[in-house]
Amino acid sequence: MNATVTDAAYTTIIGLEVHTQLLTKSKLFCGCANRFGEEPNTLTCPVCIGMPGVMPVMNREAFRLAVRTGLALQGKIASFCKWDRKNYYYPDLPKGYQISQFDLPFCEGGHLEVEVEEGQAPSKVRLHRIHLEEDAGKSMHDESMGGRDSLVDLNRTGVPLLEIVTEPDIRSPEEAKAFLTELKLLLVYLGVSDCNMQEGSLRVDANVNLHLPGESGETIATPIVEIKNMNSFRAVERALHHEVVRQWEEWQATGKKKGEVPKQTRGWNDEAGETFAQREKEESSDYRYFPEPDLVPVTMTAEQIATAEAEVGELPQALRTRLQSEYELSAYDADVLVNQGKALVRYYLEVADACGDAKLVSNWLQQDIMRTLKERNITIEELPVSAPMLTELLKKVQSNELPRARARDVFAQMVETEASLEETMDAMGIKQVDAGALRELCQSLVDANPRIVEDVKGGKQQAVGALIGQAKKKDPNVNPGEVRKICLELIQAMGEDS
Ligand code: ZN
Ligand code: MN
Repeated sequence: MNATVTDAAYTTIIGLEVHTQLLTKSKLFCGCANRFGEEPNTLTCPVCIGMPGVMPVMNREAFRLAVRTGLALQGKIASFCKWDRKNYYYPDLPKGYQISQFDLPFCEGGHLEVEVEEGQAPSKVRLHRIHLEEDAGKSMHDESMGGRDSLVDLNRTGVPLLEIVTEPDIRSPEEAKAFLTELKLLLVYLGVSDCNMQEGSLRVDANVNLHLPGESGETIATPIVEIKNMNSFRAVERALHHEVVRQWEEWQATGKKKGEVPKQTRGWNDEAGETFAQREKEESSDYRYFPEPDLVPVTMTAEQIATAEAEVGELPQALRTRLQSEYELSAYDADVLVNQGKALVRYYLEVADACGDAKLVSNWLQQDIMRTLKERNITIEELPVSAPMLTELLKKVQSNELPRARARDVFAQMVETEASLEETMDAMGIKQVDAGALRELCQSLVDANPRIVEDVKGGKQQAVGALIGQAKKKDPNVNPGEVRKICLELIQAMGEDS
């Protein structure tokens, strides 16, 4: 299906449902460890595999992280919420129901501001609700068994899962991707989830349909399609693009009349680049929700909510603003640094505060440091050059004790050997030229070269280059720029004397 939509007389309506696993030590209703990558079915107990007669107990830490997320997204935290059973049968759900929140979620409303295109005003995506629920297990389709049989791993069963549902406010696949990118950054900043899509700790379903103009001016909505099985933000964007075209073509084929097309759930085939019909979309009544009889409702006092609010911390959008207003960085620079994550921003702030040159430090982070992290595939915490070490190095650049190019070599060497600045400079044969000695050296050169001095005085400033050459011969560690500056100062002072 390669057709493109040429008639622009439609609006794309997108809503997203994001499931994200919370970073708790244990599962939501039992003491089993919440860990990825263990041997299948080793992190289970009678509670999470749903043996009869067991009693779930809520993990307070999971609820605390959930509330922190709701507050960071500007949602309204309920003073009273409860648990419900969502009933369905699937091999990875041995209990036959999932404990979730139906009519009284812990958080309603909220929004996230998203910048779709650089320099454009951000759009505001409203959130419908956020609730907490338990994850299901995982079906493993084992190729070694001829592809005919599936196994079930229940390690994931009962892991705390946050479901974040947006309003249908998103108007393009690009905006959907931008929303997901910003949401993920926020969740990682909050420390509530690692959002690792490969490991399934962040999963996205997308609802999409088109609004088209009817013959008498009314708006006609095509049936909502839910797309599942997308394993990257890029895949979400591609799947939505594909689905918009498909719905448009289906609309044309049905003679532009509201057809009898049912609401559908469709899968995404990333290789083929297309969606395929899976089933009719289920309604909530299909799940026969009813209150969970084994768990008490959760109440939150205003005091408890205030405590959770204090744990939110500085969020990406606020940090971008602060880097621009307090550190005078450009919107672009602030964005690059903030998008690298909280630890890098913390590192940046420490060095920038100590050096007092926010732009210089920003350049170093965006060039030498980010390149090093990428090349070595390490995090800023693993960088051998700590914030105080970089500060020490940059102070030498600021005081002209080290030319910039030389400082970069020193940095690369420090990364390599994990040695201190002093050790590295010694090892590289860079002697620290102290300011007094450098001035003395320049004075002796000026005194010994009256013809060059005359040339400079006569307006040929470039003649000073010969003095720099002589200085370098006497001491290879001198900073050429500094020698030039001092010599010119000395020659000018002589001119004033005579
Ligand atoms: Zn368990
Ligand atoms: Mn869910």
